[in-house]
Amino acid sequence: MTQSFHPNERTLMGPGPSDVNPRILEAMSRPTIGHLDPQFIGLMDELKELIQYAFQTQNRLTLPVSAPGSAGMEACFVNLVEPGDKVVICQNGVFGGRMKENVERIGATAVMVEDEWGKAVDVAKAEEALKANPDAKILAFVHAETSTGALSDAEALCKLAQQHDCLTIVDTVTSLGGSPLKVDEWGIDAIYSGTQKCLSCTPGISPVSFSEKAVEVISNRKTKVQSWFLDMNLVMGYWGEGAKRAYHHTAPINALYALHEALVILKEEGLENAWARHQQHHKALAAGVEAMGLSFVVDAKDRLPQLNAVTIPEGVDEAAVRSTLLQKYNLEIGAGLGALAGKVWRIGLMGYACNQTNVLLCLGALDAVLTSMKAPINSGVAVNAALDIYG
Ligand SMILES: *Cc1c(COP(=O)(O)O)cnc(C)c1O
Repeated sequence: MTQSFHPNERTLMGPGPSDVNPRILEAMSRPTIGHLDPQFIGLMDELKELIQYAFQTQNRLTLPVSAPGSAGMEACFVNLVEPGDKVVICQNGVFGGRMKENVERIGATAVMVEDEWGKAVDVAKAEEALKANPDAKILAFVHAETSTGALSDAEALCKLAQQHDCLTIVDTVTSLGGSPLKVDEWGIDAIYSGTQKCLSCTPGISPVSFSEKAVEVISNRKTKVQSWFLDMNLVMGYWGEGAKRAYHHTAPINALYALHEALVILKEEGLENAWARHQQHHKALAAGVEAMGLSFVVDAKDRLPQLNAVTIPEGVDEAAVRSTLLQKYNLEIGAGLGALAGKVWRIGLMGYACNQTNVLLCLGALDAVLTSMKAPINSGVAVNAALDIYG
């Protein structure tokens, strides 16, 4: 007989999912109630407020899409883009490429602004593209590129878009909860994120938010949104304000308990404190990594604290290292993605997983595994270098 599934307890230090706070797992195991139960409606109202807090926005159209970050991405594109529209996309890694896919599948034109992988999006190049394409409707970019570990200047890019009368679509799947993000202050029009990165929640939900300007564009579309499931005009019948909520799809009830708990935890800590914590542990990890003699893909000024892309030392079988870490230490780090596949490891310090114990475990384990493989590193110094930062 097939038995119940019991996975090992891992330490998740890859590009997501990250370690889930036990409080969230506990919240998820509470009784399932109906998706129109008055108690559940109360939870939905709180959830909306908590997402508004996390995004730093007053946007009325703020809700959790019942599917992972990729669906949040799709929700933003299919609602704002119509066939024939032109969208300028700044790409500096894997996820910008998916934006292009979304735009082209809608029957719209994607104007690509390519940046080197590992660099932040170049604002000057984005400006050139907007000047050359005065008919562009939207500027889209990834705030925190998880494939390379680069953080882009979302504030400057949004300001630029406004000067050129463009709406903005911003991917904040990895930045939310880990790096400063201010939707209203920066003037972001459509934003999506995920639960399993710096919110340290279980995967499968995507918080999204749309500005009033974006809502107006959605309400005045010439064509129907090509996705029935993600059409915000319909989803609002369930997530909209007031007591009259109508069935659209069955909400993932327990997954929303989990997100609620994750956001309560974030609010308890405070956004600024969460951002500072990610910086602090990143600094310690970076000190250890560099003491070992390994280097980062991204320049220090553009580095994401929550995603550390580290180059693999000469002659090392990178997959063997990851598999030893998993088998001997129950520790998961990420492989390279896209153009960086086989060239880097991606070490995540996301949400609940971003703590001193994990930094020391990761450095100690990596040091031991690489030393045993006779890799060209400085052995036995990484943990102390990190401890020096902690003081
Ligand atoms: C993880 C990620 C996504 C996709 O999220 P899923 O939940 O895996 O669908 C999109 N964009 C970025 C930047 C990500 O890191």
